[in-house]
Amino acid sequence: MAEQMDFDVLVIGAGPGGYHAAIRAAQLGLKVACVEREYLGGVCLNVGCIPTKAMLHAGEQIAAARHAADFGLTFGEQKLDIAKLNGWKDGIVKKLTGGVGALFKANKVTHLIGEASFVDPHTVKVGDKTYTASNFIIATGSEPAKLPGLDVDQNVIVDSTGALVMPDPVPARMLCVGGGVIGFEFSHVYNNMGSEVKVIEFLPNIIPGADADAVKEFGKIMKKQGIKIATETKANKAEKKGDGVHVELENVKTGEKTTEVFDRVLVAVGRRPRTDGLNVQAAGVHVTERGFIPADTRQHSNVPHIYSVGDVAGNPMLAHKAMKEGLVAAEVIAGKPSEQDAVAIPGVVYTSPELAWVGLTEQEAKDKGYEVKTGIFPLSASGRAMTLQATDGFVKMVVEKDTDLLLGVHIVAPHASDLLGEAGLALEMAATASDIALTIHAHPTLGEAVLEAAEAVHKQAIHIMNK
Ligand SMILES: Cc1cc2nc3c(=O)[nH]c(=O)nc-3n(C[C@H](O)[C@H](O)[C@H](O)COP(=O)(O)OP(=O)(O)OC[C@H]3O[C@@H](n4cnc5c(N)ncnc54)[C@H](O)[C@@H]3O)c2cc1C
Repeated sequence: MAEQMDFDVLVIGAGPGGYHAAIRAAQLGLKVACVEREYLGGVCLNVGCIPTKAMLHAGEQIAAARHAADFGLTFGEQKLDIAKLNGWKDGIVKKLTGGVGALFKANKVTHLIGEASFVDPHTVKVGDKTYTASNFIIATGSEPAKLPGLDVDQNVIVDSTGALVMPDPVPARMLCVGGGVIGFEFSHVYNNMGSEVKVIEFLPNIIPGADADAVKEFGKIMKKQGIKIATETKANKAEKKGDGVHVELENVKTGEKTTEVFDRVLVAVGRRPRTDGLNVQAAGVHVTERGFIPADTRQHSNVPHIYSVGDVAGNPMLAHKAMKEGLVAAEVIAGKPSEQDAVAIPGVVYTSPELAWVGLTEQEAKDKGYEVKTGIFPLSASGRAMTLQATDGFVKMVVEKDTDLLLGVHIVAPHASDLLGEAGLALEMAATASDIALTIHAHPTLGEAVLEAAEAVHKQAIHIMNK
């Protein structure tokens, strides 16, 4: 049967999950096609990770230029060419998405343009053509969740895609509905570019999933930078009027309602898996009530030759998780003994400082029955942080009390996402806090804060008083 098929593997979606799967499958000698209906690189490259990081960098440079006065460097009045800013960001996206196309060509992955829809378990329709394959990898990703009462027009009421286009002038008053990772990254961008920003979050805490101490530290720093944060608050409705968008806010604890006026409102209340148009029913694939196509550790859906990876397969909705799952699916199809068994998937908020974590939070560790010890090293005691004008933040380490086994690392610091590589490797290698403390870290670096946090677990940090 297999030799009559058009392809060994047909991947649906060319986001991080899909293009990693397609390229790895081709590397392993399989005949591969990848169908994409909108853009190569998916959400991450086009309207997610990459353009947000470009905007964040631009915002940070603006803030850094202001802070340069602290060491005696002053410039003329700041002037932001917004058309140039948007164009610069678009240029980066174009380069990277073009790169995915080139990689497809180099690896002989057939790129099919259009929307794939299942006809039967071995056939999909793309436009007016049909293609058969021995295996399918569904990598159709996710889209922004909607909020009743706040209709996104991508102009004054935007989702993350609309928020990526900075309007001219920069909005004076910005509301961000949703205090998660995406909400805070955009709040940081707009705050640095001059907007007065307010973030509202329905839950008692911002950045759900992160360690409570780290969230507290992070929230304090964001407030210090000028971002207003209101937790246990929801937005009921928004009305566009001549002087701006009137948003009814409600304190969910007291029920008290107020109306505030903004120039731009970002709805960042999460993302939903995307399976519309895919007609998975024709292939017998199970979709959960919330729209996910769950997969086992080898990325099989309930139909063994149909795999599911990335955002559509389940949380956390992160590009690096999608990439890894794409590789696993491709390798399993090629007969390799691959499996998804990551000890830790890092999470990052790319603000300045960044909030980044890997492994268990202190609470998660306790909930799992561990007796824990923690060590915290504040950046205010780091020489390198001082030279970078970035002494807000800390490194916190969560360790099993008796064995010294590392369980989780939580960092609020510039480039925390890069510092996380060491922590991730340590977790995968089942390192102890002592292993990290015994490793010579270059001086002066922010990485030393990771070493000192490990020392602090044993109450032996050198640059702080150990309590
Ligand atoms: C603003 C923002 C910032 C983010 N920042 C980060 C970050 O810094 N780090 C991080 O790890 N993650 C980040 N993410 C999340 C990240 O973008 C996603 O986790 C990642 O893109 C998921 O990859 P994926 O391959 O599962 O799906 P997607 O990237 O969503 O790609 C799915 C692709 O499938 C296509 N498709 C869907 N249905 C069909 C069909 N029927 N036929 C053909 N094609 C179809 C879509 O057009 C799309 O291109 C961010 C997301 C957003 C919105």
